[in-house]
Amino acid sequence: MPKYRLLTPGPVAVPERVLHAMARTLLHHRAPAFIPVFKEVRANLKKVFQTEEDVLILASTGTGAMEAAVVNTLSPGDVAVVVRGGKFGERWTEICQANGIRCENVDVEWGKAVEPSAVRAAFARAPEAKALFVQASETSTAVYHPIRELAEVTHEKPERLVVVDGISGVGVHDLPMDNWGLDVVVSGSQKSWLLPPGLAFIALSKQAQAAVKNAKASRYYFDLRKELKAQKDDQTAWTAPVSLVVGLQEALRMILDEGLHEVFARHEALARATRAAMTALGLKLVAPDSPSFACTAVYVPDGVDGGKFVKHLRDAYNVTFMGGQGHLEGKIFRIGHMGDVDGFDMISAVAAVEMTLADMGHSVRLGEGTRVAMELLRKAGLKKA
Ligand SMILES: *Cc1c(COP(=O)(O)O)cnc(C)c1O
Repeated sequence: MPKYRLLTPGPVAVPERVLHAMARTLLHHRAPAFIPVFKEVRANLKKVFQTEEDVLILASTGTGAMEAAVVNTLSPGDVAVVVRGGKFGERWTEICQANGIRCENVDVEWGKAVEPSAVRAAFARAPEAKALFVQASETSTAVYHPIRELAEVTHEKPERLVVVDGISGVGVHDLPMDNWGLDVVVSGSQKSWLLPPGLAFIALSKQAQAAVKNAKASRYYFDLRKELKAQKDDQTAWTAPVSLVVGLQEALRMILDEGLHEVFARHEALARATRAAMTALGLKLVAPDSPSFACTAVYVPDGVDGGKFVKHLRDAYNVTFMGGQGHLEGKIFRIGHMGDVDGFDMISAVAAVEMTLADMGHSVRLGEGTRVAMELLRKAGLKKA
């Protein structure tokens, strides 16, 4: 059996350094020895989120932090503008609706980035709206939305909040939270963070922290008033997921040793090489105009069943990609660029696409995509990436 290659946009391959750290003897979450770990992690999370404010750690997947963002900033009856350009945009709407918040949706064709003017128009239709909810990287379509411009449009009324699902965005794209005036940014451990699933992060601006105090939505486990208070003292309101936090300590050291901008450049180079390789193979990208660096989404050629394509990659080559979600199911595949993957992993991914297409009877010239990927990765000079 070939080596297992996990190349999805989450969960991602976890480096051995992190796996070993998590295998150490388990500390109690109130043990004095855990406090320096938590302190270091909190300080380093701020660097990756590029904020002076606290970044809270939650024991949940990313969706938990999305729900926490909604119920801690808004109240039933409030209105929110939601960018709905994929599966995760829909999730914002669903979470808002489940909590009695009315959504002024900005529907965006899947594969396209939202136009800031469309968001301005939505705020004009719903002047009472208190917040914008958007993805930085919409993982279902591999689109990057123009967060900086969207924040500017939203803050044309300064009291409005900008809430960003950065689950596959933070640590992938440069999203300087404080500089761009982002009010709430959430992320999840199984994406760029070199970790297994199970941790979520939520960072709150001063304005968002004030909203947390006033929100009337019901909340208990995700009551961030409790977490803001506890985590200031390097504690958590509930039992901390100790092993994952210890893993995070190691992962953050790796990320910051590499350098934040080098990390962004690595994702960008892997994504760029993959896109070029797919195009060279004659395949169509889902998001050619404003691509995310977290993953690349590609249409399977006509006459090839996307479900079978992904299954063949897994069964014949032990390569795990993700298929499509929603109406893109069976039509696309997605290659992840996050986690413990490097240029050679991307070249392997491209080779696996070529071989699978050939296996499925599609005419393809082996090496046409990999050659392009190799050329670009060489030029990017990512000798260590
Ligand atoms: C993965 C992902 C989610 C969902 O996160 P879970 O950890 O599965 O709850 C939400 N939004 C985006 C942009 C994602 O990439």
